[in-house]
Amino acid sequence: MNSGKINGGFSMAKLTVSDLKDLKGKKVLIRVDFNVPLKDGKIGDDNRMVAALPTIKYVTENGGKAILFSHLGRVKKEEDKKELTLRPVAQHLAELLDKPVTFVPVTRGPQLEEAIDKLSDGDVLLVENTRFEDLDGKKESGNDPELGKYWASLGDVYVNDAFGTAHRSHASNVGIASNMDQVAAGFLLEKEIKFLGNAVDDPKHPFVAILGGAKVSDKIGVIDHLLSKADKVVIGGGMTYTFYAAKGIKIGNSLVEEDKIDLAKQIIEKAGDKLVLPVDNVVAPEFKNDAPSEVVEGDIPDGEMALDIGPKSIELFKDTLKDAKTVVWNGPMGVFEMSNFAKGTLEVGKFLGTLTDASTIVGGGDSTAAVKELGVGDKLTHISTGGGASLEYLEGKELPGIAAVSNK
Ligand code: AMP
Repeated sequence: MNSGKINGGFSMAKLTVSDLKDLKGKKVLIRVDFNVPLKDGKIGDDNRMVAALPTIKYVTENGGKAILFSHLGRVKKEEDKKELTLRPVAQHLAELLDKPVTFVPVTRGPQLEEAIDKLSDGDVLLVENTRFEDLDGKKESGNDPELGKYWASLGDVYVNDAFGTAHRSHASNVGIASNMDQVAAGFLLEKEIKFLGNAVDDPKHPFVAILGGAKVSDKIGVIDHLLSKADKVVIGGGMTYTFYAAKGIKIGNSLVEEDKIDLAKQIIEKAGDKLVLPVDNVVAPEFKNDAPSEVVEGDIPDGEMALDIGPKSIELFKDTLKDAKTVVWNGPMGVFEMSNFAKGTLEVGKFLGTLTDASTIVGGGDSTAAVKELGVGDKLTHISTGGGASLEYLEGKELPGIAAVSNK
């Protein structure tokens, strides 16, 4: 472990929470990602909370006082506070940890400071939603220097375990970190760095990237970066048809970004035979699940739109993936929210589950949802907890939240 690599073409071991030996009595500030789906005070998927438990337990079992910070949703107006309080999250955390969690319903001031003073070794405290600080001038999201400094003053050590926000410079990650002597990565952040970082910087070959989703513009950086690292880059989903347009293949009414066609041409030229595009598609006259659909090869007929990849493409993609030693997947192969156009995405997910010899990494967002729906999650090497963060990581960008972690 601890061989985490950070992006940018160089590798450097980062300080991790297991390097912090002397935690007894220390106030350990931990940035977690408890941005969970909440409805009427009930938590939907608690994966992110479960994923943070190893770090919290490590700190408390070593006698540290765990002081947790997280954001939840976007706080834009005063009324949002009612829906976006972390109180139910604190209750759920207490159940997960099987011990009391002190919830402090404010983000600063004497009430918070006194609650921290009262903590005994091994206790856990959760501070209210850090984005409550956004109401008065975006102090959290804008990384207000005074706020980061204040939060840092509440603890002795800082651990960042929130990968989902690592691509942002907020007061609760970069702000606190820049005011602490020692900043460690939590186990979850360490895992993300290890798997995503190693996949991109030190992959076992053949390395195949499979990228889907709606827009070329969102993924252009990822495609570009991975073309320089991977042996094959497979493209599916809505962005396919901008590439089709660039190749002069007819696209009917399929999704296209006209202003990205030239860019797609450049990518095609640069990529040569590294780039693998669908050869057939499931098309329909309307963007509706029950629209009459058919499979067509090559040109998409006028009046039709491509909503999924076809059976020959599925076989082609499987063939491209079958000998891979490293696979990174991001984005669906079609409109997988509609059951009639979900097959391409589901087949790819299922096939990844059979590649037991390969390191298979799913880069967050919709592909994570597909993998979970299929129940193949435990057959894959790593499912990233961060959508935007994992994309930026795959683009080779340095993420501010990771850059702020101390080197060993
Ligand atoms: P992204 O957020 O970029 O990963 O894109 C995910 C979205 O792309 C999903 O909501 C899909 O429904 C959509 N999508 C995938 N394939 C297509 C397609 N062929 N036409 C339109 N939308 C698509």
